[in-house]
Amino acid sequence: MANDKNTPNKKPKFSPYWIYGLILAIFLAINLFSGGMSATTGSPTTPAQFFEYLRNGDVENVQIVNKREAKVFLTDAAAQLEVHKNSVKQQLLPMAGKSPNYQFEFGDLQNFENNLSETVRENELTTSINYETEQNVWGDFLLTLLPFVLIIGVWIFIMRRMSSGAGGGAGGQIFNIGKSKAKLFDQNTEVKTTFKDVAGLEGAKEEVQEIVDFLKHPEKYTSLGGKIPKGALLVGQPGTGKTLLAKAVAGEAKVPFFSLSGSDFVEMFVGVGASRVRDLFKQAKEKSPSIIFIDEIDAIGRARGKNAMSGSNDERENTLNQLLTEMDGFGTNTNVIVLAATNRADILDKALMRAGRFDRQIFVDLPDVRERKEIFEVHLRPLKKAKGLDLDFLSKQTPGFSGADIANVCNEAALIAARKGNKSVEKQDFLDAVDRIVGGLEKKNKIITPSEKRAVAFHEAGHATVSWMLEHAAPLVKVTIVPRGQSLGAAWYLPEERLIVRPNQMLDEMCAALGGRAAEKVIFNQISTGALSDLEKVTKQARAMVTIYGLSEKVGNLTYYDSSGQSEYGFTKPYSEQTAELIDKEISDIIEKQYQRAIELLTNNKEKLTELAEVLLDKEVIFKDNLEKIFGKRPFDKNVSEDTNEEE
Ligand code: ADP
Ligand code: ZN
Repeated sequence: MANDKNTPNKKPKFSPYWIYGLILAIFLAINLFSGGMSATTGSPTTPAQFFEYLRNGDVENVQIVNKREAKVFLTDAAAQLEVHKNSVKQQLLPMAGKSPNYQFEFGDLQNFENNLSETVRENELTTSINYETEQNVWGDFLLTLLPFVLIIGVWIFIMRRMSSGAGGGAGGQIFNIGKSKAKLFDQNTEVKTTFKDVAGLEGAKEEVQEIVDFLKHPEKYTSLGGKIPKGALLVGQPGTGKTLLAKAVAGEAKVPFFSLSGSDFVEMFVGVGASRVRDLFKQAKEKSPSIIFIDEIDAIGRARGKNAMSGSNDERENTLNQLLTEMDGFGTNTNVIVLAATNRADILDKALMRAGRFDRQIFVDLPDVRERKEIFEVHLRPLKKAKGLDLDFLSKQTPGFSGADIANVCNEAALIAARKGNKSVEKQDFLDAVDRIVGGLEKKNKIITPSEKRAVAFHEAGHATVSWMLEHAAPLVKVTIVPRGQSLGAAWYLPEERLIVRPNQMLDEMCAALGGRAAEKVIFNQISTGALSDLEKVTKQARAMVTIYGLSEKVGNLTYYDSSGQSEYGFTKPYSEQTAELIDKEISDIIEKQYQRAIELLTNNKEKLTELAEVLLDKEVIFKDNLEKIFGKRPFDKNVSEDTNEEE
């Protein structure tokens, strides 16, 4: 039964380790070979012993090798003696020559020769002495050979590496480097992803489904004179499911599907990218109707000629030009549709987006509450979840999460539940997973002094207090002073999902962000470095207000934002020195005003702030309820009943 699993006779695959093995084998062979040819080593002995043997007349011949070593050959009679029974016996092979019985190093040659000739003369011996220079022929041969072996080995290795994966099939040749690296999915390869696995994204799904339909029933559309679109671009933030959507197309379309990433075109050799594009389209046309999917197309599709300073872009530009040519080149009847995904449509070359190439842009947005619920449903399918798990609650707790984040939350929750030894994944596990993904891992044993802890508590209490008191600041969910990731404390808010933002909403948010530092100032009358990330956030926001959204009265209704991305690498500012000064002044004015506002708020509510900080120091984690106990119900919360009271 053991060997009914007969593995087919596969040719052993080439591996770079073979070269090492080969070299090692050569070494061994040479050593054995030269060793076997003439056993040139005798038993070790000492000079004193040797002279004793010599005086006894046992020695027939002394061979002085390389002026360093003496090899001793005994007379046939002496070799039979009991004293010499441990010495090397003569070889039986006649061709191997005689091997020495003893050998030793004598140190100084002159001295040894004198002693030797004196002993010979004194005892009237017939011992002969001869000199020899021994060369390690094989060693020398090997040394001359080694560099060649190495060079050839390395060369073969590089060749294999370069051509591996290119084109497939007849791999192993350098000529394959220009072949496309696309992975092909067709009837034979099973893709399990279907549109069912893609939650939400109704609009995008519909458009993509239509593309599949174009390919399957082109007559339906062309009979009325319409042209089938050549390409569609999926645009959206990372993790929103663009690749997933494309995979679903592959799973559903039942036509050959070539999948590759923009960076697969790029290689250090000039001309490779363009030839890969050519090859890809050739293959796709041969198998038409078919779909080509290029993920992260921005790797090659970035606008051309932006940094003229470095010539390094030529290769990418050639690749892009080739892509444009190919997309133009195939007629409406070729039945090849190009799908591409990017999260930066703004930096793509305009030529790519014009009609006739990527005619359609499909926006894949971050999911809203309802879509998040659906995504949770998809990813909860494989989990053993607790009964009555409230998905509405979970999707409300994860604003701004992408599909990938939600998939991650579900997985983390399962791991956390397993660590706790639970039988099923419970609500608290999901909340912990959300915390962990937002804030990093809790570091309960981080060393932190009591006075630092106090400062952190007041800082976080400051944020909480200010955001509680301002109408447009995001309502608080939870505050903790357990160190987590890089930060010493953290607060969780439930931001409203807004499509347009008004200046006073931005200002309220900035004020709340400055509440931490303001609290330190109000309570301890000194500030600390703990507010770095708050300051960063606030500064960016203020700069955006002034230079992007045109929300500053003094600077006016201007924007210096360039959606085409053409000025990204520019060294000149699009405004004068005076304006630059004005912008800087406005930014610091906005921030300073909000800081003063936070200070005033906190000074007026010093007792409540202190009370909150004490509770925080005591409990380490506090929730909305604790704040309500101190401050009373938050007057601005309209839909209080919906998303609170769930957390205990
Ligand atoms: P993108 O290509 O947009 O960066 P991906 O498609 O690679 O993102 O998404 C990563 C993972 O996130 C997917 O494998 C999937 O598990 C999950 N995901 C993202 N969006 C969705 C969605 N709408 N429905 C279900 N799962 C999703
Ligand atoms: Zn802070």
